[in-house]
Amino acid sequence: MAKQKKFIFVTGGVLSSIGKGIAAASIGMLMEQRGIKVTMIKMDPYLNVDPGTMSPFQHGEVFVLDDGSETDLDLGHYSRFVEKAYFTKKNSFTTGRIYDAVIRRERAGGYLGKTVQVIPHITDEIKKHILEGSDDADLTIVEVGGTVGDIESLPFLEAIRQMRADQGAANVLFVHLTLVPYIAAAGELKTKPTQHSVKELREIGIQPDILLCRSDRKLPKDVKDKIGLFCNVPGEQVFSAVDVSSIYEVPLYFHEEALDEKIGEKLGIWTGRPDLSKWKEMVDKIKSPSGEVTIGIVGKYTDWRDSYKSLSESLIHGGVANDVRVQMLYIDSEEIEQGKNEDLLRSVDGILVPGGFGERGIEGKIKAIEFARKEKIPFFGICLGMQLAVVEFARNCAGIPDAHSAEFKPEGKSNVIDLMESQRGVSDKGGTMRLGGYVCNVLAKSGSKATKAFAAYGKEQVTERHRHRFEVANKFRPQLEEKGLLVTGRHVSKIDGTELVEMIELANHPYFLGCQFHPEFLSKPLAPHPLFSSFIKAAVDVGGKTQKKLKGIG
Ligand code: GLN
Repeated sequence: MAKQKKFIFVTGGVLSSIGKGIAAASIGMLMEQRGIKVTMIKMDPYLNVDPGTMSPFQHGEVFVLDDGSETDLDLGHYSRFVEKAYFTKKNSFTTGRIYDAVIRRERAGGYLGKTVQVIPHITDEIKKHILEGSDDADLTIVEVGGTVGDIESLPFLEAIRQMRADQGAANVLFVHLTLVPYIAAAGELKTKPTQHSVKELREIGIQPDILLCRSDRKLPKDVKDKIGLFCNVPGEQVFSAVDVSSIYEVPLYFHEEALDEKIGEKLGIWTGRPDLSKWKEMVDKIKSPSGEVTIGIVGKYTDWRDSYKSLSESLIHGGVANDVRVQMLYIDSEEIEQGKNEDLLRSVDGILVPGGFGERGIEGKIKAIEFARKEKIPFFGICLGMQLAVVEFARNCAGIPDAHSAEFKPEGKSNVIDLMESQRGVSDKGGTMRLGGYVCNVLAKSGSKATKAFAAYGKEQVTERHRHRFEVANKFRPQLEEKGLLVTGRHVSKIDGTELVEMIELANHPYFLGCQFHPEFLSKPLAPHPLFSSFIKAAVDVGGKTQKKLKGIG
C-alpha cells in the first residue's frame, strides 16, 4: 500500500496581511528540519488563470519558478524557508485555473449528461490539484488564499473540508491564523475577532485543530485558554504568533512554543527534534550585524514592499553573507528625471536598478546608472536594470546618442535592446516572454583578470530564472564591446542557436554588473545568491559612505 500522505491546511481569519504565507512557510521549514519530506501549495481565490498578468501593485510580486510558471509571491516565501522542496506549476493554482480546467473538460464532453456544478465538480477539481501538487511528499502544507468569510474562498474551504473525510481525520490538520489585537485603552488582548472567525469556519464544517494568534505580544495562558474555550480548541493548541523584527524569526518562535511538536503529535508523525542552529545563526546575523551599508534602489513604484519582495529579501541575504545590515533607500526615478535626488544617489554605498515594465521613470533610471558609472559607485542592474545600463553605455560611451530599447521606442533606429528576430510580429504578448530557468555560460576571465561574474559564482555554468521579452540586440554588440562593454554571461538558444546576452560588466569600475535574469528568485537566507553577496561586498569595500561599524572597535 502506498504511504499515507499527511496534509496541513492553513486558513486565515479576521484580516488579510497578517502573515499567513510566512506562517505556512515557517511550519514547512520546521517540519522539514524534523526530517520530513515536505511540499507546499498555494491556492488563490481570484479568477486570473495565473498572476502573470496582474500588476505588482495589486497583488505583489510575480514569483517565477524554473519551469517558467508565474506564481504568487508566497511561493517566494516557501522557497526561502523550505530548503529541499522543488516547486513547479503544480504548487500554485487559482480559482481561474480550476474553472478553466472544468470548463474545458465540459466542452470536450467530459461530463456528458451531467449538470456541472461547484459541488462536486469544482471541489473535485480542487482536490485533484491538491493531490497532484502533493507529489511524493510525506507532508503537504496547503495555504488557502484570502480570508475566511470571503465569498470567493468558499469552494476551496469546502474542498479541504471534504479532504478530511477523504484522507482520514488523523491525516489532516486545520491550522487557522487569526489576529488578537491589544487594545491599549482597555489594557487587554481582545479575543472576539478570533471567536468570530472560528465561528465562521465551523459554520462551513471546519473545526480548526490549531490556532495561531498574531499579536504584538505573547499570549498568556489564561488568554489561550479563553480562546480555546470559545473556539472548541484545547488551550494547548492555541499558539502565539508574535510580531518580530525579521520574518526569519517566526519559525524560531513557533518552535519555542513547541508548535512543530504538537503538529507531529496530532498527525502521528514521529521524529527527532529539529536542528535549527544554522537558522539561528543566520537570524543573529540579521538582528545584530557588525556593520551597515545603504543601497539605493531606483524605481518607479511607490508601493515597494510587496512588488519587490524577493529583491529586498535577497539584499538582506547579501547582508548576512557580509555580516552587515542592508538599509534600503527607495529612490523615485521620476524625481531623478526632474533633476532631484542627486544628493540621495550620492549618499548611498551601492545603486540597484531592478526589473520592471513600462516607460515611466526610464530616463531617471538611465541617469542614475550614468551617475553610478561615472562616480564609480557599485552598481547592480537586474533585467530592465541591465537593459538600461546597456542603453546608457551605448548613448554615452559607444557613440550611439539615440540608443534605446524597442520596448519604449518601437520604431527606433538604434534599439540596442530589442525583440529577438523570431519574436517579431507575434501578437500574443504572453507568448513572447522568456520565462523560467535558462543556462548561462559565465565568462571566467577578461584579459588576465577574473570577471566579476566568475568571481561571484566560482563556476562557468549556472541556471537562472527569466521573465522578460526584450534582449540585447546582437547587431550592436561589436560596437558596444569594442568600447569596453564586457559580455560575461551568455545563453545559446536551443531553438535557433542565437546567442543571448545574460550578463554585462564594465572593466574599469569597482563593481558594475547587470544581468538579464532575476537572481532574486534563487536567493535563500541560508544560501545567499552569489551576485547579491558580491554586490553587497562591493558596497562594503568601496561604497563605505554610510557605512557604520555596529560592533567591536571601529
Ligand atoms: N520590460 C523588460 C522586458 O520585457 C524587462 C522585464 C523585467 O525587468 N522583468 O524585457
